Amino acid sequence: MNSYDVAIIGSGPGGYVAAIRCAQLGMKTAIIEKYSVLGGTCLNVGCIPSKALLDSSHHYEDAIKHFEEHGIDIPGDIKVNLKQMIARKQSVVDQTTGGIDFLMKKNKIDVYQGLGSFKDATHITIKGEEETEIEAKNIIIATGSKPSSLPFITIDKERIITSTEALKLTEIPKHLIVIGGGVIGLELGQVYKRLGSEVSVVEYMDRIIPTMDSGLSKELNKVLKKQKFSINTSHKVKSVERVGDEVIVKADNKKGEEVEFKGDYCLVSVGRRPYTDGLNAEAAGVKLNDKGQIEVNEHLQSNVSNIYAIGDVVKGAMLAHKASEEGSLVAEIIAGQKPHIDYNLIPGVVYTWPEVASVGKTEEQLKEAGVDYKTGQFPMRALGRSRASMDLDGFVKILADKNTDEILGVHMIGARAADMIAEAVVAMEYKASAEDIARMSHAHPTFAEATKEAALAATENRALHI
Ligand code: FAD
Ligand code: NAD
Repeated sequence: MNSYDVAIIGSGPGGYVAAIRCAQLGMKTAIIEKYSVLGGTCLNVGCIPSKALLDSSHHYEDAIKHFEEHGIDIPGDIKVNLKQMIARKQSVVDQTTGGIDFLMKKNKIDVYQGLGSFKDATHITIKGEEETEIEAKNIIIATGSKPSSLPFITIDKERIITSTEALKLTEIPKHLIVIGGGVIGLELGQVYKRLGSEVSVVEYMDRIIPTMDSGLSKELNKVLKKQKFSINTSHKVKSVERVGDEVIVKADNKKGEEVEFKGDYCLVSVGRRPYTDGLNAEAAGVKLNDKGQIEVNEHLQSNVSNIYAIGDVVKGAMLAHKASEEGSLVAEIIAGQKPHIDYNLIPGVVYTWPEVASVGKTEEQLKEAGVDYKTGQFPMRALGRSRASMDLDGFVKILADKNTDEILGVHMIGARAADMIAEAVVAMEYKASAEDIARMSHAHPTFAEATKEAALAATENRALHI
C-alpha cells in the first residue's frame, strides 16, 4: 500500500493548490479526484467556463450594439454560432485543466482517479476502475459543493437546469427564467440576454446580489433594467412545472399575489450545498455541522486532529480564491508554520458588465456594528477613460473610519472592477487610510482613477473631477 505525508480528496482550486503547496514544502503528496479531469467545479463547470461565455457574449454584444458607433461597419448580418461558442469555452476549459495535470507531474504529486472514501482516519479507499487503498498521515478534505435547489423543484437537466447545464446549452433560450438573483443567475442570465434571450430574474430577497453592499445592488439593478432584464425581487417561488417544452414558474409577490412566468428554460441558481456524498466521513469519526459542512476550527482542522477541510465544503464564502488560500494555509500548518488568512479581505466579484467587486465591510454591516464611518463615492462617467470606451455606468465607493480615516470597505461597479479591487485589497491589508490612496499617483487615463477620486471624496470631500 502506498503511504503519504498528505492525501487530498478533491482537485478543485482548494485541493490542487493544497497539493502543490504540500509538495513545495517537501511532503509526499497524493490527490484523489472522482472525475477523470482535474480542476473541480471552478475549472470544469464554474469560474472558467462561465467567464469564457461571458467574454464571447460580450464580444457579440459589442459587435451588434457598439461597433457602428466606433466606426466599424461589418457587411452582412452578425450571427451567433452557439455551437462554436460552446466549443471555444470547452477548449479554454481543456487547456486550463491540462495545466493542472502538468502541475501535478511537475510537483511529483501522485494522482488517483476514483471516489475517495474514508476507511478510517488514516486510510482512504479509492473506487475507480479498480479499487485501491492508500495510507496518509494527514488528510485534507476538499470535496467542494454541488448546486442546491428548492424542495419542490425537479431539476430535469433539460429545461429546468443548473449552472452546469446552462454552460452547454444547444440552443439560445427564447425566455430564460432565472430563479435566484445572485452571482450565478446574473452572470449566466447576462450571457443569454446578450445572445438574444428574454431573461426574467425571480429573487426571494428585496434586492439582487443581496449579500453585497446595497448601493451595488441598486446600481446593478438599474443597469440590468436598461439592458431589458425583467427583475422581480421580493418574489417567493412556490412551483416550477415543466409542460412539454415550456416551464411554468409560479411565485407570490410582495403583496401576496400570484405571478406566473412562462419560459422555455428555467435556471435554478439559489446557492450551492457542501458535497460529502460517498466520502464516508463517519468512518474516520469526522463531524459535519447542521448545514452539511465539515466542522472545522480556525486552523481548518476537523474534530479528528490529522484531518483538515477547506473550500466550499467548510464555512465561509464559496469562492475559488478563498478555497486556494485555505489550501495553502493548511499545507503550511501541517508543515509546522503559522500562516493566517484575513477573511475580511477576501474580495467578491460578479463578472457581469459592468463588473461588481467588493472587499471589507458593507455600509449595512458598518451601520449594524455602530461604526462611525464616512463615505467617498465617484461616478465612472466622470472619467475620460470611461468615455473613451463608452463604459459610463457605475461608481467606486470607499468607506473609511470617520475618526482614523482607515479604509473599512471598498465597493465598486464598473468596467474592469474585478481587476481594480486588487488595489483596495492591498490598501486594506496594509491598513491604509483613504488619504493614503488619495495621495498615490494613478495612471491617466485609467478606470482606477475612480478609486483615487473616491478616496479624495472620502478625504474632506476633495474629489477633483466632480
Ligand atoms: P470544487 O471546485 O467543487 O472541487 C471539489 C472536487 O472534489 C471536485 O472535482 C469533485 O469531483 C471532487 N470530489 C468530491 N468528492 C470526492 C470524493 N469523495 N472523492 C474524490 N473526489 C471528490 N468562484 C470564484 O471565485 N470566481 C468565479 O468567477 C466563480 N464562478 C463560478 C461560476 C459557476 C457557474 C459556479 C458553479 C461556481 C463559481 N465559483 C466561482 C465558485 C467556485 O467554483 C468554487 O468556490 C470553487 O470551485 C470551490 O473549490 P473547492 O476546491 O472547494 O471545490
Ligand atoms: P448566491 O448565494 O450568490 O445567490 C443565490 C440567490 O438566490 C440569492 O440572491 C438568494 O437570495 C436567492 N434565493 C435563495 N432562495 C430563493 C428562492 N427560494 N427563490 C428565489 N430566490 C432565492 O448563489 P449562486 O448564484 O447559486 O452561486 C453559488 C455560489 O457560487 C455562491 O456562493 C458564489 O459565491 C459562487 N459563485 C461565485 C461566482 C463569482 O465569484 N463570480 C460566480 C458564480 C458562483
